[in-house]
Amino acid sequence: MTLTGNMLIGQHSIPGTGAALRALNPATNAALEPAYPGGSAEHVAQACALAWSAFDSYRETSLLARAEFLETIANEIEALGDELIERAVAETGLPHARIQGERGRTCQQLRTFARTVRAGEWLDVRIDTAQPGRQPLPRADLRQRQVPLGPVAVFGASNFPLAFSVAGGDTASALAAGCPVIVKAHGAHPGTSELVGRALARAVKQCGLPEGVFSLLYGSGREVGIALVTDPRIKAVGFTGSQSGGIALCQAAQARPEPIPVYAEMSSINPVYLFPAALKARGEALAQGFVTSLTQGAGQFCTNPGLVIAVQGAQLEQFVSVASSLLQRSPAQTMLTPGIFQAYEAGVGALAEHAHPVASGLPAQGSNQCQAQLFSTHAQDFLANPHLQGEVFGAAALLVQCVDDGEMRRVTEHLEGQLTATLHLDEGDLEQAQGLLPTLERKAGRLLVNGWPTGVEVCDAMVHGGPFPATSDSRSTSVGTAAILRFLRPVCYQDFPDSLLPEALKQDNPLALRRLLDGQREA
Ligand code: NAP
Repeated sequence: MTLTGNMLIGQHSIPGTGAALRALNPATNAALEPAYPGGSAEHVAQACALAWSAFDSYRETSLLARAEFLETIANEIEALGDELIERAVAETGLPHARIQGERGRTCQQLRTFARTVRAGEWLDVRIDTAQPGRQPLPRADLRQRQVPLGPVAVFGASNFPLAFSVAGGDTASALAAGCPVIVKAHGAHPGTSELVGRALARAVKQCGLPEGVFSLLYGSGREVGIALVTDPRIKAVGFTGSQSGGIALCQAAQARPEPIPVYAEMSSINPVYLFPAALKARGEALAQGFVTSLTQGAGQFCTNPGLVIAVQGAQLEQFVSVASSLLQRSPAQTMLTPGIFQAYEAGVGALAEHAHPVASGLPAQGSNQCQAQLFSTHAQDFLANPHLQGEVFGAAALLVQCVDDGEMRRVTEHLEGQLTATLHLDEGDLEQAQGLLPTLERKAGRLLVNGWPTGVEVCDAMVHGGPFPATSDSRSTSVGTAAILRFLRPVCYQDFPDSLLPEALKQDNPLALRRLLDGQREA
């Protein structure tokens, strides 16, 4: 398929009129064709008008039709074959196997949302039937269901060109909820975005849906992105990226005459606790697991283990010694963009000013390569120095050495909001770990025991969220089927005749939902 460099506004392939960007192969710094001219305020308005006009019919599609749409998107992405893989590899510097795995995850994610839509539990139907004879006052017939918020703006993430981008988790969950989606493509992978965007537009057509269900725009965040977020027809935003970008979008959304929710997943350093009995029993294996998790994908994961916390002593020294020698043999890896590489270098430079260097990976052999780094500091310095808590996006980690359990608790209390917190423990560590749990539950969205935070399962129980700055709204997850809840709101229907009620609320339950009926869950 020839890439056009055009945006997609509904079914129309439209060239942008703004400044053009070209993807860059970060492994070679070579520019890739074609150019992608950015959209204008007028293009944003066209896409929003189409999305708004599609909303009322799309949101009332049957559960079956919407599920089939999500499955058709997955089929169309798979049908892109190797062209998608090759383009994504060229635009991101990520290895083939990683991109192939990510395509599988993206399609599985769409199919998982299809299953969720079909089951209909997310409609969360609650019915309190009328009690006309109730004393002292009668009760009306009250019926609640969830309805979609409206058109959603999605900002594709740089670090997952498929799974968190054009047809990634934000898009899949918004479409599942019944919201049309307008994607602002990430400038780092415009060709990948075009391929996936066209697959999605084909699915819209095949399924006979209104064209405004999906549009894809290019251009700068500060122009196209802000125009999207401030358009009155956009009712929610999904974002993964930097803290400054996420905060800018939150502020723009809150400053609107009608403020809207922004679900921004931003920064997290994902503390990993090494408790004494676990360190003693398997310090070497822990060091291996840590270095593998830290360096995977050049550390470009929001769940990268950027902070290790432990009580100092001989066992910890042994862990550091093994981790250092493994890290010293770990090859430098190409990062996603020159900008991300420069931010990594700056972050490592700042850590070097405030902490002790422990070990470095093998030096770079090519452009934009991340040399892995491990630093160390004492808990007292960590507590006193805010510079040590910032996310360094890439394969850099900081070890915080505590004098005792009490200091470990103080470090934990001092942490900002996190996506994950990991506990490596054995039987003998349970009491110490138990003592940290109330604090960790306040700090993080996912707590792990004896695992590594990288690798986020797409399933019903997953939480990929957490208090600020991990996300802008700690009540939500951006991964897993509960992500659909971000784009829904409840509506209550009082004393409606059955013929006027939506299907989900009709008395004879035509969708066969497990509803909450007069306080009892239906079988
Ligand atoms: P980014 O700079 O936040 O950009 C993400 C998207 O948001 C882009 O489409 C960007 O548009 C837009 N954007 C950024 N700032 C904006 C603003 N002030 N107003 C409106 N739109 C804005 O993220 P990135 O390019 O992926 O990477 C930069 C840094 O973000 C990384 O070095 C890393 O520190 C962090 N990051 C973190 C995660 C994570 O999961 N924790 C993931 C990816 C990146 P433009 O391209 O036009 O700016």
